[in-house]
Amino acid sequence: METIRRTKIVDVLKSDAFGTVVNVKGWVRTRRGSKQVNFIALNDGSTIHNVQVVVDVDKFSEDVLKLITTGASMSVNGVLVQSQGKGQQVEIQANEIEIYGTADPATYPLQKKGHSLEFLREIAHLRPRTNTFGAIFRIRHNMAYAIHKFFHERGFFYFHTPLITASDCEGAGQMFQVTTLDLNNLPKDENGAVVYDGDFFGKQASLTVSGQLEGELAATALGQIYTFGPTFRAENSNTPRHLAEFWMIEPEMAFYDIQDNMELAEAFIKYCVQWALDNCMDDIQFLNDMFDKELIARLQGVLKEDFVRLPYTEGIKILEEAVAKGHTFEFPVYWGVDLASEHERYLVEEHFKRPVILTDYPKEIKAFYMKQNEDGKTVRAMDVLFPKIGEIIGGSEREADYDKLLNRINELHIPMKDMWWYLDTRRFGTVPHSGFGLGFERLLLFVTGMANIRDVIPFPRTPKNADF
Ligand code: ATP
Ligand code: MN
Repeated sequence: METIRRTKIVDVLKSDAFGTVVNVKGWVRTRRGSKQVNFIALNDGSTIHNVQVVVDVDKFSEDVLKLITTGASMSVNGVLVQSQGKGQQVEIQANEIEIYGTADPATYPLQKKGHSLEFLREIAHLRPRTNTFGAIFRIRHNMAYAIHKFFHERGFFYFHTPLITASDCEGAGQMFQVTTLDLNNLPKDENGAVVYDGDFFGKQASLTVSGQLEGELAATALGQIYTFGPTFRAENSNTPRHLAEFWMIEPEMAFYDIQDNMELAEAFIKYCVQWALDNCMDDIQFLNDMFDKELIARLQGVLKEDFVRLPYTEGIKILEEAVAKGHTFEFPVYWGVDLASEHERYLVEEHFKRPVILTDYPKEIKAFYMKQNEDGKTVRAMDVLFPKIGEIIGGSEREADYDKLLNRINELHIPMKDMWWYLDTRRFGTVPHSGFGLGFERLLLFVTGMANIRDVIPFPRTPKNADF
């Protein structure tokens, strides 16, 4: 076969170099046709669209033709021509075909369109080859790019916080332990407690649930930073919004109060959504048509609206009024309760019909580091609540006062061995500062319109599931 420089299908489809010979490589999506002429839909992952390869059956041996089945991979040299068929601009009239790999129709699982998402989760190693998951993972890449771009343009520095941590103050009870000890033969003291002196780190260690505490160290030095990395939570919540391994973006900003923090969060999400609409429209249109007819309207909707800013106490009043009028929730509503996603979604979808930033939560349901309000009851937390998702961002202004922070740490019996280095940010040159965490996959749920978080990460880790 003649060597011709490969053109990606995304570029071929935009080309008008009719009459030239091009090379494309990809995987066969479908093959149809007659005795004389076959039409092959070829996809190389560069776009959701396939290029049509027209095969004059007389020009090729039956040995080659019989290998062109769904899933097979091949290289094609052919003439780029203007397409006669509707819905496509160009097609390729094949001169030469080289089959790279066959896909036996008797065993290749992705034969037809319309496999259920549940079935595709069982073959997560192959699902990126479907239109749906190709679209989702291209969008996922674009969102990661947009996130770095947003922060870089605003002078934030990407800061790498550790994945292995020896402090469990944030995630008590929901951390995955990291150890090289022999679990069948654990060294124990006279009380039967495991001795970690001989473990890899010489102490008990776990996978991080958040990079925030280290992020604060960086913010009080570099000014504005963000983290973007995997986090791990062993919470046993088998919901469509929780993963055991998920990616989080955590900006942390010196000299930001909670107002600045809310403005940043709103601008950030809007930037990402705008980026998706501007750069991923083919993929979003496909998902809109296939899964969620309101997706594009919803994405455009959040760009138009200002997010509501509402204190928790006001939010509870609205929910209590809804209950009084006969609305039923699965979980109870009262001041002090940690809102369930049904409550969050009621505020967003039924009451305000736009995103809501809920602030000033009771201190008992929020983390120790949040800035305490004058009322002694609430803290300067801010959760961003979104349609279909509920909480997409959790954040706060941080307690900058050493004594108040220390008091709270003592009230909650958080061990000093975990905290001394963190407290040093307040001991030396403390400043007002704020930050938040955005769950990357929650953002992707919103942007793709998918209903289950397992479908927006390539290889989901959830309770009892770590395949592939
Ligand atoms: P939730 O109440 O929904 O469990 P959280 O209050 O535990 O969330 P935070 O600790 O504030 O969440 O984490 C910040 C963000 O990380 C959340 O707003 C959410 O977008 C995301 N997030 C939290 N837990 C998970 C998870 N298990 N899987 C995926 N994303 C998550
Ligand atoms: Mn949680």
